[in-house]
Amino acid sequence: MKTVKCEICDADIQGEDFEAWFKAAFAHWTVEHADIMKQMSQIMKEMSIPHGEQVQEKHQKELREMESEINPLFNHLVQPG
Ligand SMILES: [Zn+2]
Repeated sequence: MKTVKCEICDADIQGEDFEAWFKAAFAHWTVEHADIMKQMSQIMKEMSIPHGEQVQEKHQKELREMESEINPLFNHLVQPG
């Protein structure tokens, strides 16, 4: 059983193995932190569309800001246990 606390709200996220845990974590973020997930997917979507330099700079700034929120979550994914 793998248990990791959510960095955003301190909820315990559990799964039998990594795959189960990741699904639980993803479901948790989708439900409890829908605004962050929505922002992420929106930025990802817009990043995949060719833009002028100005727009890309804007999104790079947004992405960096998002990364500071999201990175602690994903850091857990690469840590064993
Ligand atoms: Zn949470």
